Amino acid sequence: WSSRNFSWTKELEANNKKVFGNHSFRPNQREVINATMSGYDVFVLMPTGGGKSLTYQLPALICPGVTLVISPLVSLIQDQIMHLIQANISAAYLSANMEWSEQQEIFRDLSSDCSKYKLLYVTPEKVAKSDVLLRHLESLNARHLLARIVIDEAHCVSQWGHDFRPDYQGLGILKQKFPKIPVLALTATATASVKEDVVQALGLINCIIFRQSFNRPNLWYSVIPKTKKCVDDIDKFIKENHFDECGIVYCLSRMDCEKVAERLQECGHKAAFYHGSMDPAQRSFIQKQWSKDEINIICATVAFGMGINKPDVRFVIHHSLPKSIEGYHQECGRAGRDGLRSSCVLYYSYSDYIRVKHMISQGATEQSPLVSGYNRTNLGSSGRILETNTENLLRMVSYCENDVDCRRLLQLVHFGEKFDPGNCKKTCDNCLKSTNLIEKDVTDISKQLVDLVRSMGQQFSSAHILEVYRGSLSQFVKKHRHEKLSLHGTGKHLLKSEASRILHHLVIEDILVEEVRKSDIYGSVSSLLKVNETKVRSLLNGGQRIKLRFPSSTKTNKLSKFEM
Ligand code: ADP
Repeated sequence: WSSRNFSWTKELEANNKKVFGNHSFRPNQREVINATMSGYDVFVLMPTGGGKSLTYQLPALICPGVTLVISPLVSLIQDQIMHLIQANISAAYLSANMEWSEQQEIFRDLSSDCSKYKLLYVTPEKVAKSDVLLRHLESLNARHLLARIVIDEAHCVSQWGHDFRPDYQGLGILKQKFPKIPVLALTATATASVKEDVVQALGLINCIIFRQSFNRPNLWYSVIPKTKKCVDDIDKFIKENHFDECGIVYCLSRMDCEKVAERLQECGHKAAFYHGSMDPAQRSFIQKQWSKDEINIICATVAFGMGINKPDVRFVIHHSLPKSIEGYHQECGRAGRDGLRSSCVLYYSYSDYIRVKHMISQGATEQSPLVSGYNRTNLGSSGRILETNTENLLRMVSYCENDVDCRRLLQLVHFGEKFDPGNCKKTCDNCLKSTNLIEKDVTDISKQLVDLVRSMGQQFSSAHILEVYRGSLSQFVKKHRHEKLSLHGTGKHLLKSEASRILHHLVIEDILVEEVRKSDIYGSVSSLLKVNETKVRSLLNGGQRIKLRFPSSTKTNKLSKFEM
C-alpha cells in the first residue's frame, strides 16, 4: 500500500506539506490513507501519538463529500475542530447536549450546501438516538456525498475492551445502511479478541488491518512491592531518578490523589491533584500549569491523560494496581513521547487487588474520560461486563506477580505481538535481575493450600491462610485453634514471598477465588478465599501440574527437596 502510485498520490503529498505542515508521513499513515481511499474497510491499531487523525483528515480534504467521524468525547472533538479550522478545513460537530437551533443550522447546511463541511464529527449516542441524523446521512449518501465513516477509539465497541461504551455497539447500523461507504476504525489499544469483536460488531467487510508494534523501547518498566510508606518510596524514587522532571502518579481514588499530592508537596515537589470531582475550570487550570511546567507532578485518576500531548513526561508511576493491562499500557504510553528514556514504575500489593476488585463490583472506580461521560454505575455490577473487568484485573495481577519474565514481552503478548526478550536489553526490572532461575513443580504445595482453605471452612483471608501454612502461632491463629490443623506449619520451609506467590498464582489460575465480602464505613474491604470446585478438579485428579520459576538462590532450593 505504500509504494504504488495512486491517482491521488501527488495531491496527498502536497496537502500533507501545505495544509498540515508535515514533511513526510509517519509509519503506516500513507498505507492507511491509500487503503481507505481505495474504498476498503480498514482497521488501524496505532499507538497514541502515532498520527491517526491525519489518516482521515487528509482523505477528507481530497475526496468530494463529507467524512463522518464518530468520536467519544466532546472535548476531544472540539480540540480537533479547532485545529482543523486553524488549517482552513471546514468542520462541524453534533452532540446530544447542543442547542436544537444549533443542530438545525448544521442539518440545514448539510442538506443545502454540503460542501460547507469536509468533516462532520458526532458522538456515538447521537448516531444511536438521532433519526434526524440518519436521515441526513441517507440524503448525503443518495447524492454521493458521504465520503467515508471514521470510528475513532474503536475499541469502545467491544465488551472485552477496557473502555466499553454501549452506544458504540449500535454503530453497526452505519454499515447496514451504507454498505458501500468505506469505514475506517481507529484505536491505540486492542487485543486480538477486541479487534475481532470490533470488526464483527461494525460489520466491516474484507477489512484491511494495519497494526504497528506497541513496543516503546524508551520506556523502562518495573514493578516494586508496595509498602505502607509507598508515597515516601515514590518521593525517593523521583528525587533519585527524575528530580524536577515532569511526571504523572496514577492513583485509584480521588482521595488517594489528594493525599499523595499533599505528601509529595510536603517532600518538596511541585505536585497537584486531578480527578473527576473537580470542576472543569479547576481541571483545565491544573492541566495548563502542568503543560507550562509550573507543576511537575500530577497525582491523578485515569480521568487524566486523554488528549494530553506533553512530550517530556519522564515518569508514569502507578500508586495502585491498574485495572487492566490495556489501561496500564496506555497510561504508561503518556511517558516519553519525545523518545527519551522515561520510567514506568508500578507499586504493587496483593491487597490492592482485593480493593480494586471490590470497587469494580460496585461500579465505583473512576473511569477514563472515554467512558466517564456515560453512567456506568449499573454496568459495573452487570454480569458479562463485571466478568470481563474481573478477568482483566486478574491478568494485571498476574503481570505484577510475575517477577521472572520480561515485562515488555508480557505486555506485547497481551496485544498478540511477538517479541524476543533479548531485545528488551535490560530495560525492565525482570530482565535486569541477573539471578538464575529454576523451574519448580509446586503442584503438591498447591494441593496443600487448597486443602488448607477447605479445612478452614473457606472463611478466612489469603493472608491468614499463609500465616497458618507457614506455622504462625499468633493470637488470631490460636483463637481459631488453627495451630491444631494437620497442615499447620507444613510450609514453614518456604519464604513468605514464595508461599504467597504460589497462593496468588492459584488465584490467577482461578483455582482459588477471592470473595470480597464487605467494606466498612472507612472503605476497607475484607475478602475470603474460596475454592473454585470446577477448576480445582484437574489439579486434584493429578492431571494438572503447576510449575513456577524461582531465583535459584532462595529457599526454593529446599522447596525442591520438599517436593521430592
Ligand atoms: P493519535 O490520534 O494517533 O494519538 P494525532 O493524530 O493526535 O495522534 O497526532 C499526534 C501528533 O503528531 C499531532 O501533533 C500531529 O500533528 C503530529 N503528526 C501527525 N502526523 C504527522 C506527520 N506525518 N509528521 C509530523 N507530525 C505529525
